[in-house]
Amino acid sequence: MSRPQFPAESIDRPGVPLRPGDSKGRHTTTTRELFLVPGGGVLIDTPGLRAVGLWLSEQGRSRAFAEIAALAGECRFADCSLDHEPACAVVGAVEAGSLEASRLESFLRLQAESEEFVSRLEKRRQRQHAGRRRNRPHEV
Ligand SMILES: [Zn+2]
Repeated sequence: MSRPQFPAESIDRPGVPLRPGDSKGRHTTTTRELFLVPGGGVLIDTPGLRAVGLWLSEQGRSRAFAEIAALAGECRFADCSLDHEPACAVVGAVEAGSLEASRLESFLRLQAESEEFVSRLEKRRQRQHAGRRRNRPHEV
């Protein structure tokens, strides 16, 4: 899948060269700024943020990927991973050419990100709950 491209020179921002060793960039942002991207879109530059994740509930994913949700409903595996189950309706649609492989990849990537987000949230809740229990005064 290709990422949306826009010319870097269209944003009035001094460039910092990539590190020669691994061709990675450096964190140089010190203030928050909003840029309008020519042709549509907005770019937010903010310090202290390495990545932004997209979380969609299961219902949201089913709406955004309605064709995959419909195919998954036809699959004979109720909790299908859409990956390795034999004769999976969704994988079968990709193989038959009626579903774009990139759509399924996007769906699976979003699903994995959402599951990881929920898992991290749950672990944080458990740590906070454990901290509260430890700090509770002893009852007499
Ligand atoms: Zn399936």
